[in-house]
Amino acid sequence: MSEPPPRLPMEHIRRPVLPWQTDRHLTECGRDTDGRVVITREECAAKIKRQGKQRAAMTTCMTCAETSDRWATWDVDPVQAVRRQVGGWGDTDPALRDEFIVIAALIEAHREEYDDMLAGLRGTLRLDEARLARRKREIRAQDPSRRR
Ligand SMILES: [Zn+2]
Repeated sequence: MSEPPPRLPMEHIRRPVLPWQTDRHLTECGRDTDGRVVITREECAAKIKRQGKQRAAMTTCMTCAETSDRWATWDVDPVQAVRRQVGGWGDTDPALRDEFIVIAALIEAHREEYDDMLAGLRGTLRLDEARLARRKREIRAQDPSRRR
């Protein structure tokens, strides 16, 4: 009798963390990454593209895959990334409370720099919003059916 083919290891997806959380090493499904085969969201997307969804599903943790589809990363939406940790995991991680206290203390110690950076960021956003509004006006002007 021939032996069954060796089982390929199940790959989990590394959970994105908030930028200051360099000490967190969890999978999207909530397990410690130690001793597990862990890939990034980008590597998972490339794997699905390469192997197809059905074949990739045989060696990918589906809880990780579904969870990563539900939550945005900090780069995409910082508020949703924080919301995940504040309420998305059930109880709020007590370490997060300490991190917020330290962040507030750092801001207080560097108040002027914080205010300048925030004003700069808001200026950039207003510029983007102005560009978007101008673009919408241009599209409306080109499409006669959208005129009153
Ligand atoms: Zn997993």
